[in-house]
Amino acid sequence: PFGSLPELIERQAAHRPGHTALVLEDRRLDYAALHAGMDRVARSLQRDGMQPGDVVAICAGTSVEYVLAYLGALRAGVAVAPLAPSATAEHLSAMLDNCGARLVLRDREVAAQWPLHAGAALRCVALDDAAEAGEPWSQWLAQGDGAPATTPAPITPEPDWPFNVIYSSGTTGVPKGIVQSWAMRWAHVRRAVTNGYGPDAVSLCATPLYSNTTLVAALPTLALGGTLVLMRKFDATRYLALAQQHGATHTMLVPVQYQRLMACSDFDRTDLSRLQHKFCTSAPFSAALKAEVLRRWPGRLIEYYGMTEGGVRCELHCHDFPHKLHTVGRPGEGADIRFIDEQGRELPAGEQGEIVGRSAGMMSGYYRLPDKTREAEWFDAEGRRYIRSGDVGRLDADGFIVLGDRKKDMIITGGFNVYPSDIEAVLCQHPQVAECAVVGVPSEQWGETPVAYVVGRSGSQPTAEELREWLNTRVGKTQRVADLRLVERLPRSEIGKVLKRTLREQYLQAAP
Ligand code: ATP
Ligand code: MG
Repeated sequence: PFGSLPELIERQAAHRPGHTALVLEDRRLDYAALHAGMDRVARSLQRDGMQPGDVVAICAGTSVEYVLAYLGALRAGVAVAPLAPSATAEHLSAMLDNCGARLVLRDREVAAQWPLHAGAALRCVALDDAAEAGEPWSQWLAQGDGAPATTPAPITPEPDWPFNVIYSSGTTGVPKGIVQSWAMRWAHVRRAVTNGYGPDAVSLCATPLYSNTTLVAALPTLALGGTLVLMRKFDATRYLALAQQHGATHTMLVPVQYQRLMACSDFDRTDLSRLQHKFCTSAPFSAALKAEVLRRWPGRLIEYYGMTEGGVRCELHCHDFPHKLHTVGRPGEGADIRFIDEQGRELPAGEQGEIVGRSAGMMSGYYRLPDKTREAEWFDAEGRRYIRSGDVGRLDADGFIVLGDRKKDMIITGGFNVYPSDIEAVLCQHPQVAECAVVGVPSEQWGETPVAYVVGRSGSQPTAEELREWLNTRVGKTQRVADLRLVERLPRSEIGKVLKRTLREQYLQAAP
């Protein structure tokens, strides 16, 4: 059966009005307040003439108002386009143009880096009431008050209505708006039930709200009546204090956050015995780090491999398969994963190729980009639709998926395909290497050639030249790196993905 998220929240408010729904710093909202806030936003949107089929853009840091705005839009049947405040002004206007939002909810910080002229066609509302960001939120909300009906006009969403238009990070060009349907979000709620989310769950999230990684944990927490504890910005010490203070039971973290927690001196002093359900997704999670988390932090640890577009969905229950930590697990329930070659032909089991997938929650397409949508689709012999991941991988003998690199990060040197992850795996075995990334840079002789970036551990460190020699004697001839640079840190996106494109650009800029 299909249920709608606002309906579920309404039900929670009726049953347990005083139960804490949302905690952010010193603010706390119970379900009655969450419900009332959500309805109030919906009334204001309806007053503005917003209807199902319309899109409202939210571009702001994490706040209570952000959550209310999100839910209120859904209550009015309006799709939310959560935009990354960190995007360039150029990308932000492209995203706004593409989604066709007439209303943008933003805050002071976004307004400072993204001057936008509101006019007849575009209305800006400041979630934090900052005058420079737009019409104050409190004023905009008040316009919906005093409407004859105390509840907004009831909206019954259809499963295929757009719920979100989520923009991809734009690594390869202008960000594409991924259209997620109500049914797709519903699939996330159902999965959350099997993962123990419910009224007693206290779910701690420390990634930005615009990211699908956060939404897959945060929205089901509220739909199922749990308590959502948010952080504006991740900090390991603060995270541990919050987890203990609120008795967190569930958490969704990205690999670099697990890494920071393992390195934090407070970790062993913190009581995390209630935090039994840990999830991880969005970037490579090394086998060594998974093993360390399992050892030092008992309970369930589930890694998801998937994408905002849906289709591809794998999961590794690390606690049940400690010998499979080098994989991203098996296809999730109802997911069908295949591997294809450069020509789009399906490969026999076990051969390495691009991963394509099909599952209950798949995007209908990229918003208003039919050509890009077609490029992202693959059809099997029976005409069933799959989504292409752009990732390379293979199936092992037990049906677990070994994930390789993103296709666009693969290096072609002298006609050979070189996988950065193979070189990174060797480099990471050096005791003084904390983190590393290998990228391909243009080479006159070879077309492309690998170079390595390394973050060393504290203490005595080998020189870059020594490390390069150490590495090059341990890898194949085509995998030898032309250059190795020691750096303080690797460039990462806000949700912790290493930005290989930035490394390539840095290398070229630094080149003589
Ligand atoms: P863009 O498409 O704009 O480049 P993106 O692909 O990073 O952005 P997402 O949909 O958030 O945006 O991420 C999906 C990708 O993240 C996958 O294709 C994969 O490369 C990577 N990823 C997701 N989960 C994992 C995982 N468990 N291990 C390794 N990589 C992962
Ligand atoms: Mg992608």
